[in-house]
Amino acid sequence: FVRLKQDMRSKDELTEMGETFNEMIGLLENSFAKQEQFVSNASHELKTPLTIIESYASLLKRKGLSRPDLFGESVEAIRSEAVRMRTMTEQLLWLAKPKREWRLDWSEVNVAPFVEQSVNAFRTAYKRDIELEAKEGFAVRTDKGLLKQLLFILLDNARKYSEGVIVVRVDEESGACMIRVIDEGIGIAPEELSRVFERFYRIDQARTKGQEEEGGTGLGLSLAKEIAETLGAEVTLESEPGKGTTAAIKLPARLLSKF
Ligand code: ADP
Repeated sequence: FVRLKQDMRSKDELTEMGETFNEMIGLLENSFAKQEQFVSNASHELKTPLTIIESYASLLKRKGLSRPDLFGESVEAIRSEAVRMRTMTEQLLWLAKPKREWRLDWSEVNVAPFVEQSVNAFRTAYKRDIELEAKEGFAVRTDKGLLKQLLFILLDNARKYSEGVIVVRVDEESGACMIRVIDEGIGIAPEELSRVFERFYRIDQARTKGQEEEGGTGLGLSLAKEIAETLGAEVTLESEPGKGTTAAIKLPARLLSKF
């Protein structure tokens, strides 16, 4: 009887192990399927700029000498599509890299001067009017490189989807650090707000200001979300179509320490 009981128990255990095993296989299959989807989306998205580059290069080859008027437009299209491909490749490399390989370098960062430096760099690169309202006197524990990258993604969106002044505001709210990037651009409809964080998701491309010059990748915000998670931060968007968008980075209270 004791043996029988033992056998039964081991059968239960076997069943349980079988179920766990199946669950693991399911998870693995799911993750492979996601990986395959990612690779297929990425290849598809990289094809678009390549096709444009190829067709403008062919046009120049055929008609460049007899039609010098085509030169400016073609070269600009080739240049901007090459820039888009570079951005996309960089973003894809980050997204494809397992998080454990993101070498983090944590340090105590004085927020106001750090944001000021980043904003200055961005302003110089893009010659955009950016106002900074930064509350002094508090620090967060973070990885400087990643936080800067995150801020640049939000600034870059404000730049691409608005024309006026961009405001960057840094303050402290209930013990958390808030970095806000505020634009008065085209805005995002409520039903699109959660979708814009999906990989490769872009809202109706025709709406984009100067789409020809400034094709995005649809990867910026999904990378922003992953960076924020890694830093223990949160990225949120508030927006009103036609009025503008506020993107906020919230760094949790536990990371704050008063000077
Ligand atoms: P993209 O490279 O296309 O900008 P993102 O992932 O950063 O990719 O953004 C996804 C989409 O969300 C954009 O294509 C755009 O339609 C919308 N979006 C993001 N930020 C803003 C903003 N500040 N104002 C208006 N629309 C925005």
